[in-house]
Amino acid sequence: MPRMTRYGAQYGPDVTFSGVDRCDLGDPATYADADVVVIGAPFDGGTSYRPGARFGPSAIRACDYLAHDGSRPSLPLRTDALRDLRVRDAGDVEMFSGDAVRSCKDLEDVVARVAEAGVLPVILGGDHTVTWPNATGVARARGWGRISVVHFDAHADTGDTEFGSLVGHGQPMRRLIESGAVRGDRFLQIGLRGYWPPPDVLDWMAERGMRSVEMAEIVSRGLNTCLDEAFEVATDDCDGVFLSVDIDVADPGHAPGTGTPEPGGLSARELLDAVRRVALELPLVGVDVVEVSPPHDHADVTALLANRVVLEVLSAVARRRRGDPYDPSRPLLEGRGHE
Ligand code: MN
Ligand code: MN
Repeated sequence: MPRMTRYGAQYGPDVTFSGVDRCDLGDPATYADADVVVIGAPFDGGTSYRPGARFGPSAIRACDYLAHDGSRPSLPLRTDALRDLRVRDAGDVEMFSGDAVRSCKDLEDVVARVAEAGVLPVILGGDHTVTWPNATGVARARGWGRISVVHFDAHADTGDTEFGSLVGHGQPMRRLIESGAVRGDRFLQIGLRGYWPPPDVLDWMAERGMRSVEMAEIVSRGLNTCLDEAFEVATDDCDGVFLSVDIDVADPGHAPGTGTPEPGGLSARELLDAVRRVALELPLVGVDVVEVSPPHDHADVTALLANRVVLEVLSAVARRRRGDPYDPSRPLLEGRGHE
């Protein structure tokens, strides 16, 4: 029996991201002219520790002190991403957390369909399992092995199995590299720290030519230097970039509402500056923001950061498409190309 892929929110009130218009994944005409389609992936069946990321999409959509009016004028970038770009919200893909393979397959097909239409899919997770179908779907549309991945995370997510399963939030990056959807040597990880993975997994990563930047290197050499190097690799012999942001790359003080918090991460400010650079400087073909777990959040801190990561990315995509250079050192009221 065919299942619905859209029915608004899988959990809770049915609101769109910041009040943008809806589209219907079953009717391509409703997103054929879109620049961006927001897709919810309310799945947390792949978590290894505390769950709750299934509530991430609705929290990220709803969390904002501003009116849900489909307008977000960026102060630094002087773009209004939700108006300069045609942004639609497709609602959630139905994802049963008790059936990871089926849920991931349904998500992959939806993402591929959106990407094939030339539209930028922005997926709200969900635990990090969903990056396996997300990047696979984009690679199906844009070219197998032809997209690179820029991956912000405390964790490498390159494990082989967990709880005896190939599918889970600790394994998506290995699945993507094993299938050939993404080349290991075009996989850029930023923010790793803590006590995982073990040496055998690090060996596997090194054999695949992965470039994994840990927090200690970021502190030692500077975030922008590390990003410069990653950007050079990401655009070498690849046609597009998939950006995956695990909110736990931010320090738990800045993002407490997540499944596997690891102390010592990026500040909220650093994360926003970094993703803004990614979207300004790289040709994005897919984005996901994952691992927001609202039951573990405090004062919506984590959901709000994820909401702002999405807005920062979209504001920068709009600025990149406009083409004029962005100079953050210029005083705010002396003009930054506001139209
Ligand atoms: Mn992760
Ligand atoms: Mn993580």
